[in-house]
Amino acid sequence: MIPFVSRADLAEQSIWIKHLSAAMPEEVIVPFADLTPEQKRQCDIAIVANPDPNDLLSLPSLQWVHSVWAGVERMMNELSSPSFSIVRLVDAKLAETMSEAVLAWTLYLHRDMPSYAKQQAQKSWFQKPMVRAQDRRIGVLGLGELGRVSSQRLVANGFPVAGWSRHEKQIEGVECFHGEEGLALLLKQTDILVCLLPLTPETKGLLDQQHLSLLPIGASLINFARGPIIDDEALLNKLEYDELSHAVLDVFAQEPLPENHPYWCHDSVTVLPHISAPTNPVSASDIVARNIQQYRLTGNLPPAVDKRRGY
Ligand code: NAP
Repeated sequence: MIPFVSRADLAEQSIWIKHLSAAMPEEVIVPFADLTPEQKRQCDIAIVANPDPNDLLSLPSLQWVHSVWAGVERMMNELSSPSFSIVRLVDAKLAETMSEAVLAWTLYLHRDMPSYAKQQAQKSWFQKPMVRAQDRRIGVLGLGELGRVSSQRLVANGFPVAGWSRHEKQIEGVECFHGEEGLALLLKQTDILVCLLPLTPETKGLLDQQHLSLLPIGASLINFARGPIIDDEALLNKLEYDELSHAVLDVFAQEPLPENHPYWCHDSVTVLPHISAPTNPVSASDIVARNIQQYRLTGNLPPAVDKRRGY
C-alpha cells in the first residue's frame, strides 16, 4: 500500500493515481485520506506532490518519499529535519522540456521581440542592429539536470554559453565557472542570464542589487527556477533605470502572482504562470515506478536530496 500525499485537488490526485497505478500494477496506490490507522503505521514509502508535512509526519514507518516534481524546495523548507529520505523526480524528458523553454525564451530576447512588440504598439518602423547568435553571450546559473541540458541546447544553436555551479565542472562547449569569484566573472560577460538554480539558503536573494549590477548594461534575464532567488526590488530598480532591458519570469515568491504586483503591467517584464517545464505524469510515473520496483527488489533507495545542502 503506497499513499499518494498531496494538497492538490481530488481530481488532480486521481489523475496521478491513475498514471502511477498503470506504471506499477503490482502496487496499490491510494489517496492519503483513504489510509486506515493500521495502514498508516505500516507505510514505508509515500509518493508526494506538494504534500501537507503533517500527513507525512503521521506515518511512523516512512523510510522515503518520492516526489513527482523535480523541485522539492517547499517540502525541504516545511520539513526541517525529517527522519525519512526525500527523492525528487529526475526525468530526462523534463530536462528536454526545460531546455526547449530556455531556447525559446532566449531566442525571444536574442531577436529583440520585446522591443519590436513595443515598437508595433507605437507604429514605429525602426530596424535595430542585428546581433548574431555567436555574439550573444548566455550565462546559465546551475549546471544540474536542467542547466546542463539547457546549456548544451544553447551551444547547439550557436550561442557562446558559460555556466555556473557549486562544484567545478566540465561540459563540452560550455565555459564553466564555480564559486563566488566564478559568479562575478560569469555575470560580467553575460548578455542573457538564465537561472536554473535550486532555492536554498545560499541561493535565496542571490540575484540582488550587487550581483545584478555586474551584468553588462542592457542585459536581460530569464528565471525558470524559483522566485525568491531574485530580489524583486533590485530587479525592478534595474529595469526602471534601463540598466537591464527585459526579464522573463516564470516563477515568483508568491504564486499565483498577486494581482497588484508591479510585474504584471511592467512593459519590460514577461510574466509566465510557472509553465517552463511542467511534469509529464506518464514519464514521471514510469520513473517513480522504476525507482520503487528497484527498492522492493534490492532495498536500495534512489539518490536522495542532500538535506544539509538543500538540493
Ligand atoms: P539540480 O540537478 O539539483 O542542479 C542544481 C544546480 O545548481 C547544480 O549544478 C548545483 O551545483 C547548482 N547550485 C546549487 N546551489 C548552488 C550554489 N550555492 N552556488 C552555485 N551553484 C549551485 O537541479 P535541477 O533538476 O537542474 O533543477 C533546478 C531547479 O529548477 C529546481 O530546484 C527547481 O527549483 C527548478 N524547476 C523549475 C521548473 C519550472 O517549471 N519552472 C521545473 C522544474 C524545476 P553542483 O552541480 O556543483 O552541485
